[in-house]
Amino acid sequence: MQAGRSARVGATSDAEGRSHALYEPVDSSLTPRFAGPATFMRLPVVSDPRQTDIAIFGVPWDGGTTYRPGPRHGPRQVREMSSMIRRFHGVTGVSPYELCRVADLGDSPTNPIDLPRSLETIGAFARSVVEAGATPLAIGGDHLCSLPLLRAFKDKAPLALIHFDAHHDMDDTYFGGLKYTHGTPFRRATEEGLIDPKRTVQIGIRGTTYHNDEEKWVVEQGVRVIRIEEVDKLGIKGVLSEIHRVVAHSPAYLSFDVDSIDPAFAPGTGTPEFGGLLPREVNLLLRGLHGIHLSGADIVEVSPPFDPSGGTAFVAANIAFEILCLMATAKSR
Ligand code: MN
Ligand code: MN
Repeated sequence: MQAGRSARVGATSDAEGRSHALYEPVDSSLTPRFAGPATFMRLPVVSDPRQTDIAIFGVPWDGGTTYRPGPRHGPRQVREMSSMIRRFHGVTGVSPYELCRVADLGDSPTNPIDLPRSLETIGAFARSVVEAGATPLAIGGDHLCSLPLLRAFKDKAPLALIHFDAHHDMDDTYFGGLKYTHGTPFRRATEEGLIDPKRTVQIGIRGTTYHNDEEKWVVEQGVRVIRIEEVDKLGIKGVLSEIHRVVAHSPAYLSFDVDSIDPAFAPGTGTPEFGGLLPREVNLLLRGLHGIHLSGADIVEVSPPFDPSGGTAFVAANIAFEILCLMATAKSR
C-alpha cells in the first residue's frame, strides 16, 4: 500500500514514550474523498478488536423492523458518506486518530431471515469487542440491534442509557405477542438488567402512539423522558444539565436513533415523526456530553432506500464523528 493512497497503520509513541500503533485514515488532502474503497471515516479495516481502542463496525440487519425496512443497508451508505468527514473536529480541534487506535472492524455477522440467530451473532461480535477492551461504536441496523449490543456489557450492567429517539422503544409486544422488535429493545434491556431505567434519559420523544400503556410503563420505571416540547422549553443547556444529572457518574451507553432528528434532515428512516430535533441542536447536545464515560454507542435506523441521496447517512456519519471524538477524548484522559 502506498502512503496517501490507502488507510495505513504506522507506529508512534505517546507522551510517556510508549510506542503503539497509530491508525491513520486516508489523507483526503492527498487522495480525493471519492477514491478508494469506502470504510468508516476512511480508516483501515482491522479484524482483531484487541488492536483497537475504539472499534467502529456495522450491523447490517433490520429483522426487527415493523414498518418500512431498509436499515440493513445503513452501514454501507454511512461508510460511503463518512468519506466527507475530515480529521479534525471543527470546534474542539480534536483529532480522535491522534488520541486512540480507531479502526473499521467490518460488519457483525447477521442473518436476514433468522431473528434469534442474528441476536446471538450480533451479541457475540459485540462481546468480542468489549472483552478486548475496545469501545464499540456500532452503525445499524434497526433499533433492535441495541439489545444484543447492550448484552455485550452484561458483566458491567446495569449501564446508564442516553437515548435519542422519537420513540420510547419500550413497548412490550407487537403483532400478537412478539417480544423482539425495534419497538421493544429497551423494555427487554430493562427486564434483563442491562440498563438502569432510573439512570435512563430519552430525548426527542414525540408522535402518535398505538396506546398509552407504553408511556405509563416508562414513567413507572423512573425513566427521565424529555419530549420534544420540553427540549424547546428547557433549551440545550437545560437538557444537558438533565442528562448529566440522570447519568451522574455512571458508565453510560449512548443509543442514537436517527429518527430523533426532524425528517426534513433525516427522511431515510423506517418510522419518521413530524417535528424533530434539528441537526444543530444535536451537535450541541452531543458536544455537551463531554465528561460522561461512554462505554459504547450505536447509531441506528438509517434506511437508504428511503433516502437514496445519502443525506440521512451523511447526518449519521457526522453524528458518528461527534461520538468518536467524545470517546477518544475520554479514553485518552
Ligand atoms: Mn428507536
Ligand atoms: Mn425511533
